[in-house]
This record gives sequence, structure tokens and C-alpha cells, in this order.
Amino acid sequence: MKIGQPEKFIIDGKRLDGRKPDEMREVKIQAGVLKRADGSALVEWGGNKVIAACYGPREVHPRHLAKSDKAILRCTYNMAPFSVSDRKRPGPDRRSVEISKVTRLALEPVIFTNLYPRTTIDVFIEVLQANAGTRCTGITAASVALADAGIPMRDLVPACAAGKVGGEVVLDLFDIEDNYGEADLPVALIPKNNEITLLQMDGNFTKKEFEKALDLAIQGCMKIYELQKGALRERYGGE
Ligand code: ADP
Repeated sequence: MKIGQPEKFIIDGKRLDGRKPDEMREVKIQAGVLKRADGSALVEWGGNKVIAACYGPREVHPRHLAKSDKAILRCTYNMAPFSVSDRKRPGPDRRSVEISKVTRLALEPVIFTNLYPRTTIDVFIEVLQANAGTRCTGITAASVALADAGIPMRDLVPACAAGKVGGEVVLDLFDIEDNYGEADLPVALIPKNNEITLLQMDGNFTKKEFEKALDLAIQGCMKIYELQKGALRERYGGE
């Protein structure tokens, strides 16, 4: 057992933060929170606070990155030094480069990039407070920010993770579960055609546990999808 590891993760059917195994943390999404961005969103997901800002379609710098037949999408995930308990060294690191890349891959399939050749769509994801699941929170925020910027898209992209703690498959790990649990499975998908655009796995599941975790994460994504649409409805009205 690692230092700080709880003896049990589930006591009388409840997790250490009081949730049931298939219960998500409280999630609040607000669209259009930044004046100077073309589109933006704030997502508060349990102890996570993440802002996404979207700019574009706009001219590409450096120019050689431009594509003659479509827009490029650039995603930058960044954690504020004060977002975690020990101060995080500012600037990019391996983890943020990886998350920036998987975020781009998760979002790119929904964007009609062919409509804006020779331009860039830039998305900045700033983690102000982290408590596990920030890549899912970031993708969720970024997709609302893209919609808020009026970028033509096939659908929104919700994201949510499931994991395994104390031998049980649970939805949406918080930090203690993430740090000391056995597995984590972040998922993002396109609800319209049930296409998974992010699937990562940290730790070990049996085949059965994996299937259960994937199922739970997909259900979580569908809940997030409703909240994303709710945030856009709140800002713009209508159906
Ligand atoms: P995700 O945030 O998508 O779950 P990770 O599994 O890499 O990604 O990180 C899990 C959690 O670990 C983060 O949400 C954050 O709470 C914490 N964490 C990540 N990087 C650091 C860091 N440099 N210092 C302290 N805590 C960190």
C-alpha cells in the first residue's frame, strides 16, 4: 500500500466523497465567459475548474502550417501553477503536450475544416484548478467554446472517464481515486454517430471490467452532452 492510500475506496456502497459507484461529480457548464475570445466556456466539474477559449477561423502563423484544402485545428492544454496542491512548474511538459494532442484528435472529426481552407482554429484550454479528469473537462469545455465561436460542427464532443478502485468499476474518478486506484479510462465521443474519438487507458482492467467501464463512461458522456447543449441553450435560447 502506498503512503496516503485509503484502506477502502467503497464503504457501505458509497465512495470516499459520498458518491455511488455510477454517480458523476456535479458538473456546471457556462458558454461565452470571455469577452475577447471568439468563443469560450467554463466547466466546473467536481474540483476541476477549466476555461476554454477559441479563436478563428483566422490567418495561420507561421504560414507554412496552412493547408490549402482545409483549416487546421490547434489545441493547447495548460495547467496553471496554482491548479494543483504542489505548485506546478509553468510551461509545457510531456503531459500537457500529450493532452493537447489527444484533445485535437478528439475534436477534429466534428469540425467542418474543409469550409475554411488556409486558416487555423485555435483552442486554448486553461486548467485553473485540477482534481482528476482534466482532459475530459478540457475536451468538454473546448467543444462548447468551438460551438460558441460559431464554428460549423457535426456535433458536440462530450467526454467522461470511468475507472476502477478497490476492485470496483466506478464513474468519474476524483483525485484520491485517481492517485491510488487501479485504472482510469477517459472517453470522448460523437453522440450523433456513436463514434469514439478519445479512448485512453491507465492501469489494468479485465475484459469484463473494461466493457463495464466503457459502458459507464459512455453513459457519463451522454449526461455531459445534455449539459453542453443546456449551456448553449442558456446563452443563445432555442431548442
Ligand atoms: P487527467 O487530469 O486528465 O485525469 P492525469 O491522469 O494525468 O490527467 O492527472 C490526474 C490528476 O493528477 C490531475 O487532474 C491533477 O489533479 C493531478 N496532477 C496532474 N499533474 C500534476 C502535477 N504536475 N502536480 C500535481 N498534481 C498533478
